[in-house]
Amino acid sequence: MRTCIGCRQRERASVLVRLVALRGIADTAQVTIDERGRLPGRGAWLHRDERCLSLAVRRNAFGTALRDRGVAVKPTDLAEQLGAITSEGS
Ligand SMILES: [Zn+2]
Repeated sequence: MRTCIGCRQRERASVLVRLVALRGIADTAQVTIDERGRLPGRGAWLHRDERCLSLAVRRNAFGTALRDRGVAVKPTDLAEQLGAITSEGS
């Protein structure tokens, strides 16, 4: 069981998406959706739901969940990725 960082409900991992902080060339890590659940590092979990995404953004839950306070979040990018996953699965 995992906890959605948006609505804080406990859920099976299969219905949640995994989020990781990807560190690129720049020093700032970027929160991205790990669609296949294979990326290394600490993960955070979120429902495939924009409401949970905005809750998590408002609460600034990413930094806490990923244990990386300096992590950068682009809510619109994440929403797009969530949308892509949702339409793909239907
Ligand atoms: Zn949720």
